[in-house]
Amino acid sequence: MEKTLTHSQIKQAVEEAYNECKNVTGGHNADYIPFLANVDPNLFGISLTLTDGTTFNIGDTDYKFGIESVSKVLTAILILKQHGADAVLKQIGADATGLPFNSIFAILLENDHPSTPLVNAGAITACSMVEPKGDSWGKWEAIINNIAALCGSEAQVLDELYRSESETNFNNRSIAWLLKNYNRIYDDVDMSLDLYTRQCSVGITSSQLAICAGTIANGGVNPVTKAEVFARELAPKITTLISSVGFYQNTGDWMYTSGIPAKSGVGGGVLGVYPGVMGVAAFAPPLDEAGNSVKAQAAVKAIMKKLDLGVFNGDNVTVVAD
Ligand code: GLN
Repeated sequence: MEKTLTHSQIKQAVEEAYNECKNVTGGHNADYIPFLANVDPNLFGISLTLTDGTTFNIGDTDYKFGIESVSKVLTAILILKQHGADAVLKQIGADATGLPFNSIFAILLENDHPSTPLVNAGAITACSMVEPKGDSWGKWEAIINNIAALCGSEAQVLDELYRSESETNFNNRSIAWLLKNYNRIYDDVDMSLDLYTRQCSVGITSSQLAICAGTIANGGVNPVTKAEVFARELAPKITTLISSVGFYQNTGDWMYTSGIPAKSGVGGGVLGVYPGVMGVAAFAPPLDEAGNSVKAQAAVKAIMKKLDLGVFNGDNVTVVAD
């Protein structure tokens, strides 16, 4: 069906979703990373960027929270750019694990394969694939510059979060060395793990994440800066990865109930991509048992419901200014 939405309808949906969801309770801040346990649990923001660049923000949308696993999407884009879609499939994979984000069992079950760049194992492998090989500083520059291009503005590491994660990432150290054992780390192991930890510690705002999501929805052209960040043919690859594993073991339930591919992080962020239409981001620290923000999920679902949208609805959606 042809479906037309106006800017003011979308703005209203964002505002209503915010007001309905701001008192949603439940969940707990991540506490296995000490820094995250102390973030104000009442922070809440929603941002939405249309593919024409129009952005709507409400709530704590300038607060810099830990990007955490949402960073996996951004670095997956970087290695897709640097190596191409076939190499990423061969060297990492594009499968859901059906297991928690930090699962060691998943690596063993997949017969040594890291499954997807959107779980910890595949994301550490992805960092090992970033060019220039062997050059820790050059690789970091590539990662952080890619984040800035996707989000339309620079982002920095939250030093205290980086320290907190580095001091407690024992499970990720096991993952990295297990992958090394299976020849799935394509650069220095400690360097690859450190880059992964550093990218997870980047401070980001929901408004930056919505622009990043909008860039993916817009086929690689940043809708705000108008820069081409990645080739159009990579957009469906990245959206496929997000659809299949963005919420880890809860991804099927999420897709079934929300109608939008989305990726979460234990910092409380959620990034959703509606191809051709919009990117949406929401942020609130308390998480469910799979590590996905309770309030951010509710907010994104509410927006989709109010606008009667769903990527599998079969609608041809046009957005017009009014
Ligand atoms: N840095 C976190 C970790 O490696 C990211 C996890 C997440 O956001 N799901 O455990």
